[in-house]
Amino acid sequence: MNRRSLLLCALTAPLVLDAAFAQEDEFGGGEQPEASAGKDMRRYRCTVSDHIYDPAEGDPAAGVAAGTAFADLPADWVCPDCGASRSDFEPID
Ligand SMILES: [Zn+2]
Repeated sequence: MNRRSLLLCALTAPLVLDAAFAQEDEFGGGEQPEASAGKDMRRYRCTVSDHIYDPAEGDPAAGVAAGTAFADLPADWVCPDCGASRSDFEPID
């Protein structure tokens, strides 16, 4: 048994995994903030006025910061175009 190669294997395996993840981040839309990982960052469309809520842009006029997921909008948030409530929005795939 070669102790040295075992040690090398244990040392390099995590590094290879890290490199793979780093590449994925780099090429797979790394623009979203870390806090949004795993959240529903889909865009939502108002079924009344066809207004699009885009989490990447937020709704600055209503004090909603860019990067805010639709689910994280304030409960009293309404469509900027027609005033429809959040329940009148549907996700865009
Ligand atoms: Zn609307």
